[in-house]
Amino acid sequence: MVTPVRIVGQRSETVRRSNLSAIVRAVHLRGPLSRSELVRHTGLTRSAIRGLIGELVAGGLLTETRSEPDGAPGRPSPLVHADPEGAAAVALEINVDSLAAAHVGLGGTIKELVRVDRPRAHATVDEIVAELVQMAQPILESASRNDGLVGIGVAVAGIVRRSDGLVRLAPNLGWREAPLGHRLAAAIGSDVPIAIANDADLGGLAEHRRGAAVGEADVIYVSGEVGVGGSVTVEGQPLIGAAGYAGEIGHMIVNTGGSACACGSFGCWETEIGESAMLTRAGRPANGGRAAIDELIAAAGEGEPAAAASVERVGEWLGIGLASLVNIFNPTLIVLGGVLGQIHPLVASQLDAALAGRALPASRQLVSVTPGALGVSAPIIGAAELALEGMLADPASRLPSGRDARRLRASA
Ligand SMILES: [Zn+2]
Repeated sequence: MVTPVRIVGQRSETVRRSNLSAIVRAVHLRGPLSRSELVRHTGLTRSAIRGLIGELVAGGLLTETRSEPDGAPGRPSPLVHADPEGAAAVALEINVDSLAAAHVGLGGTIKELVRVDRPRAHATVDEIVAELVQMAQPILESASRNDGLVGIGVAVAGIVRRSDGLVRLAPNLGWREAPLGHRLAAAIGSDVPIAIANDADLGGLAEHRRGAAVGEADVIYVSGEVGVGGSVTVEGQPLIGAAGYAGEIGHMIVNTGGSACACGSFGCWETEIGESAMLTRAGRPANGGRAAIDELIAAAGEGEPAAAASVERVGEWLGIGLASLVNIFNPTLIVLGGVLGQIHPLVASQLDAALAGRALPASRQLVSVTPGALGVSAPIIGAAELALEGMLADPASRLPSGRDARRLRASA
């Protein structure tokens, strides 16, 4: 929950802006909400909320509807909704085997989503940007109508410098020091802010805000695809690190005698629980892609010995790595995304045994493990949240007075 600023007798602009933010954020994430639920979520008084909702409704960010009578005496409390037309985000995703674009409205409504598969081959940043922007063009246009587009968020399967969207390393795309932020800004040609982050960081953000980890303050998210990524949420806040590189748990060294990793090191967790390890151990070609993984998981489920043994081994290594993370971060929840979420039902006992045997009991007793709730959509939902973040932090800038100020600045 966002702690609102409330200073009795002081009506400073800062307090007003911060309270507007608390209301819009609560309705965006938990709405629709009655006014009494808003009091509970924001800590503001009922009378303060009434005035601020009025401003936000007039400004087109929220709407209010009468709720159905619930049989209780008195008038039913109206419900406050986010207006999906009030602010829009465009979310983009650059994955190893697909590109995706979505138009997401305030409140998290996905109004349009397209995903196209691409071969798992290396491509230059310019090639990917051209393909992605062409695919996203209709979505960019519809989201931009009525001055509604507030941000563009991008999830990419690589290590990203948050300040300018420089992709330092994306081994499975074949990128090193790729200026994705600059190239995308030039290709899109708009002054709407573009924010770029690692796909697993955004998958974790999405699961925390809208998926399996809602309401949990301390969470580890691990997502397995071609690479293994993750994110760490501490006291409700995502761990970003100095430049945005934190949470690269796939490159935690777990096996000193292990094999070479795409990052240049040896024995990373990814080399034990990633797709290629899973396929190779089961006697299948490592580069079979998603179809090969789906076949392997189905075969393991049917009890084919090589497939089942390989998947179980992943479960064990998963537990070994998680034991260290549990000891370091003391989370209450571990969310498994991507392929790791898919195999969880098959490997739960190996995972639990490895975790129980290695994690400190005090921490182990507090944590549970669950598959993600958002599936493959987690990173793009997180990218939309990232794109909306500036507006959520200061919705006053979208209200009529703030809009005039922006126009004046733009025309100056
Ligand atoms: Zn590595």
